[in-house]
Amino acid sequence: MTLPLEGRVANGVSRVGSSMPSTADGTPPGRSPSAFGHPPLEGEGHTSHAYVTLVTNADYAMGATALVRSLKLTGTTADLVVMHTGGASVDELKPLEDLGAKLVEAALLPTSDAFNARHGRGNIHGQNPFTKGRKPHFHTPLDNFAKLRLWQLEEYDACVFIDADAVVLRNIDRLFLYPEFSAAPNVYESLADFHRLNSGVFVARPSQETFARMLDALDAPEAFWKRTDQTFLQSFFPEWHGLPVFFNMLQYVWFNLPELWDWASVSVVHYQYEKPWEENHPKAERLRPLIELWRAYYNGEAIPDIDALPNPTIKAG
Ligand code: UDP
Ligand code: MN
Repeated sequence: MTLPLEGRVANGVSRVGSSMPSTADGTPPGRSPSAFGHPPLEGEGHTSHAYVTLVTNADYAMGATALVRSLKLTGTTADLVVMHTGGASVDELKPLEDLGAKLVEAALLPTSDAFNARHGRGNIHGQNPFTKGRKPHFHTPLDNFAKLRLWQLEEYDACVFIDADAVVLRNIDRLFLYPEFSAAPNVYESLADFHRLNSGVFVARPSQETFARMLDALDAPEAFWKRTDQTFLQSFFPEWHGLPVFFNMLQYVWFNLPELWDWASVSVVHYQYEKPWEENHPKAERLRPLIELWRAYYNGEAIPDIDALPNPTIKAG
């Protein structure tokens, strides 16, 4: 099955799905194959790795701005790609372009009307209400599935997807050497959740072939993905590789499992449920230090020494 190439890099550098020029032995220019079969992590002209996020409206464009700024501060050599659907205006995407991110148009997936109805906001929330936290009004469950377009970015050997509601605190470029599909567990309340993955951070190898197989599996008759892309990815990659929780530290760990929090180890903070840019959300008081950190990234202020930040207090008993 061939798919139309519906995305393209806005700055005219390349189109999604176009192949990179390569040398006679198939090695991209500026790269040499290593004895381990992996390309070197660092080196001039290194363009085959990308951090990828998704933005379908103005709110997540704000989130992505903090994320891109945080990634730049890690000194990464990878490309920073923002897939966007047109739900965010050119003006709203401008700060991302100014920071050097590559803007890639990515349409919502061509899922069936029946699929779209099953995964509408009312149905997702109605059938399995979110009891642990609140999703913001600007979160549209169906939009999540557009993450899968990452697999169309074939000019990259490896991509690390990161939700637009996360910030990266230190260099995590070694994740590009991890296998597909790697993700951290969805842990923010209890140990039982180590069985489930969280799709806010994952490592994947773009392939149009994989993307086509995903679309078929995704929109199978009567398929209902209770937690959208997250449930789907866990089903599509049943042998997923577990990353340490520090690569996707969920904000609720701060108050639910404070003994797990260790600033010296946390690489990514992920603001699942309520967003740090929402005015006075119900958890804002309890998450104050995390919200302040996000704001520092968003506003381009000085970032404190992460390792020296005070860990959450652990209640006795
Ligand atoms: N997203 C988006 N628009 C939406 C919903 C989701 O752009 O309406 C993207 C965005 O990158 C976001 C990710 O999909 O970070 C997943 O959604 P969210 O982070 O809100 O889910 P949570 O982490 O709270 O489960
Ligand atoms: Mn998220």
